[in-house]
Amino acid sequence: MNVNPAPLALSEPAPRSLAGAQGVLVGLSKAELAEVMTALGEKPFRAKQVWHWIYHRGATSFGEMTDLGKELRAKLENNYTVGRPAIAREQTSTDRTRKWLMAFADGQKAETVFIPEEDRGAVCISSQVGCTLTCRFCHTGTQRLVRNLTAGEIVGQFMVARDSYGEWPTPTDERRMLSNIVMMGMGEPLYNFENVAKALKIIMADDGIALGKRRITLSTSGVVPEIRRCGAELGVNLAISLHAPDDDTRTAIMPINKKYPLKELMAACREYPGLNNARRITFEYVMLKGINDTLQHARALVKLVAGIPAKFNLIPFNPWPGSAYECSDEATVNAFSDALYSAGYTATVRTPRGRDILAACGQLRTDSERLSAKEQRLRDEQERKIAEDAWQEKEAAL
Ligand code: SF4
Repeated sequence: MNVNPAPLALSEPAPRSLAGAQGVLVGLSKAELAEVMTALGEKPFRAKQVWHWIYHRGATSFGEMTDLGKELRAKLENNYTVGRPAIAREQTSTDRTRKWLMAFADGQKAETVFIPEEDRGAVCISSQVGCTLTCRFCHTGTQRLVRNLTAGEIVGQFMVARDSYGEWPTPTDERRMLSNIVMMGMGEPLYNFENVAKALKIIMADDGIALGKRRITLSTSGVVPEIRRCGAELGVNLAISLHAPDDDTRTAIMPINKKYPLKELMAACREYPGLNNARRITFEYVMLKGINDTLQHARALVKLVAGIPAKFNLIPFNPWPGSAYECSDEATVNAFSDALYSAGYTATVRTPRGRDILAACGQLRTDSERLSAKEQRLRDEQERKIAEDAWQEKEAAL
């Protein structure tokens, strides 16, 4: 099992430049956008206008940017696109949860989910195509890492979601349907820290999308060194995929625990900046029948997090094709939640959302794959065999 971060150089598409193929503007920092303007022979302050059009107004083409001169618009059009992932598939659940399969320029895909509440909702964003980790209860964990998503692809997911609900320009009051972001989609965000951080800084900038850090939650399986960076550089809310109160159980279901055991993980949580009773770490805990769901586990959990401003999010296990676990029964989940409540912790049981479209927690997966030469040969062989069998069946039927 590989729990090491994939080297960025190996796993990202080549950057685009002014020369050659069209570059993409979404995902550039303000400084980079100013450099683009300089390279086009424009004054750097033009970057402010373009930024406003892209992130405040949600423009998807340069033609909409009416306060830019014709000449500049033409130069931009000849060299750049604004940039959005394409939607390969969109599904809406019976409970209104919406899931998009986003397709990126190189054909790779990742999923994004919107979970609506009455008058607000959270967009669950992916950070990688596939994942290097293999948390046993997670469908994404069965898909090898293909590559990290770029900052533009991460911001782009949120922008597509806002396109879908027509939430442009950025609302200036607090009323937003797409009011929160949770970095809980495909991938481990802290194994793609640079791009995730760049994307979140773009999203938080108050002259654009302007979503505050209190409305963004980053969820990690426990990449200890990057938790510290996340606290220092971003200050967003932190969620930990915990799922077990002791090292043996956690290592069995989350192999990353071997690298960063609970003692180190809890130390990083204790140091996370800005924690208080109003701003607590969310510990996510998937309820797996017979694995981590007894009252002893609940009591051990209380001991483990002692001293950390904490709340729990109990997640009834969402099955996926081929999964090895069952969800704890309702009475067990409720007893577990009660035990945490009586120790003074909020322990909400998450209502599964979007199960009918496999959009619930731990169910995301795409068919993007990175195959070794041997796997590719095997795959070709299998496909040839399937085609042959189908042909023979067809002949026999004639
Ligand atoms: S839970 Fe997160 S870190 Fe673990 S395999 Fe799934 S996507 Fe990767």
